[in-house]
Amino acid sequence: MSKVKTIRDVELKGKQAFVRVDFNVPVEDGVITDDTRIQAAIPTIKYLIEQGAKVVLASHLGRPKGEKNPAFTLAPVAKALSEALGQPVQFLDDCIGEGVKAARAGLGEGGIILLENVRYYNGETKNDPELAKQFAEGADLFVNDAFGTAHRAHASTAGVADYVDTKVAGFLIERELEYLGEKTATPEKPFTVILGGAKVSDKITVIDALLEKCDTMFIGGAMAYTFAKAQGIAIGNSLCEEDKIDTAKEALAKAEKLGVKLLLPVDDMCADSIDFGGKTLGNTKVFEGGIEDGWSGVDIGPKTIELYKEVVANSKTVLWNGPMGIFEIKDSSVGTFAVAEAIAASDAISIIGGGDSVKAVKKSGYSDKVTFMSTGGGASLEFLEGKVLPGVAALDQA
Ligand code: ADP
Ligand code: MG
Repeated sequence: MSKVKTIRDVELKGKQAFVRVDFNVPVEDGVITDDTRIQAAIPTIKYLIEQGAKVVLASHLGRPKGEKNPAFTLAPVAKALSEALGQPVQFLDDCIGEGVKAARAGLGEGGIILLENVRYYNGETKNDPELAKQFAEGADLFVNDAFGTAHRAHASTAGVADYVDTKVAGFLIERELEYLGEKTATPEKPFTVILGGAKVSDKITVIDALLEKCDTMFIGGAMAYTFAKAQGIAIGNSLCEEDKIDTAKEALAKAEKLGVKLLLPVDDMCADSIDFGGKTLGNTKVFEGGIEDGWSGVDIGPKTIELYKEVVANSKTVLWNGPMGIFEIKDSSVGTFAVAEAIAASDAISIIGGGDSVKAVKKSGYSDKVTFMSTGGGASLEFLEGKVLPGVAALDQA
C-alpha cells in the first residue's frame, strides 16, 4: 500500500497552507450541537501553527447548493474554534475574491483564517479549475485533512492540488489511512470482519474486497436475511433484497473457495411489528433455524451473540461496519451493543467504519475502548471497497 506525505514531512515555517478540514457540524439556530469534528481537527491545526505555518482553513457545511445562504455559514465554527484553540481565528465572509486574497496575504506566522463555506459556489462540487485556482492562490502547500469528503473530487478536496506544489495529509487522514488501509491490508491475524447494516447492495463490494483479507467474516443486520434466503432458510417477513440473492450466493461460494469462515446468525430476534418513528417493537420472539411468516428479524439472537463474542475474543484484528440490528430501538439494540462490548473487552486492534456503526459504538458507551473509529461514513466504505479516493490520490507520495 502506497503511503502519502504528511504535514510531518514538509517545511512549514512561514508557509501559507490551504487546509481542507471537515467542519460540517450540525448547527441548530446558530448553535453547534456536536463539535466532534472541530475537536478532531485541532491536532493538525495546532501542529501547523506551532511550526510557524500561516493557516487558511476551508470547509463545507451542509448543502447550500452554490448560493450564499446564511443558514449554512461557518461563522459559529470560527467562534467555537477560536475558543477551543485559545487564539483568534479570523473569519472571512467569503472563500474567494479580492478581500480574501488581501487577508490571506496579510496573514502572519501562526495566524489562522477560516474561509466561508466553499459550497457557496457551484464550482466546488463541480471541481471547477477556476475555483480551485483561486483556492490555491498564495498557498505554498495544500493540506487535506477532510477524510469525510475525500471520496469526492471537489475543487477544495482535489482540484486545488493541481495548482499547489506541495500536497500533504493532515493527522486525521493519516490515521484513517493507517487504520482503514495498512492495518486491514496487512492485518495481525486472526482477522475478523463484522458486517451488518441494512442492505447487501450497499456492502457487497466491501464483502468482496474483505473476504480476500480476513479469516472470519460474520454477518448480521438486515442483510443477513438475504444471505439466509440464499441458503434456503425461511426468513418470514424480514427485509430481503430478492435481486441480491445470487450476489449473496456468490459471496458464500467465494468464502468457501478462499477458506474464509463466513458466519451467519444461528438465531434471530424477531418482532411482529416495528414502529420506527415511535421506536418500539410489537411482540418479540427468538427463532432458531428459520423465521415464521408474520415475523421480521430485527436483531441477532442470544446464541448468535455468544458465538460472535467468542470469535471477537479470539481475534487479533477486528474491523466492524454495520449494526447487527435496528439499534435505534432499545429492544433490538442488544446484539449491536453486545458486539461493541466484546470488542471493548478484547485486546484486538479494533477498527470501526461507517456512519451508523460509529453512532452505535458511541451510544454503547465503549467508544474509548476501541482502537480507531473512522470519521468518514461514505468515504470509509469506499476506501474499504478498495476504491482510490480523489482527495487522497491528489496528495504527494512519501
Ligand atoms: P453504516 O452506516 O455503519 O455503514 P448502514 O447504514 O449500512 O450502516 O446500516 C445501518 C442501519 O441498518 C441502521 O439504521 C439499522 O436500523 C439498520 N438495520 C440493521 N439491522 C436491521 C434489521 N434487521 N432490519 C431493518 N433495519 C436494520
Ligand atoms: Mg449508514
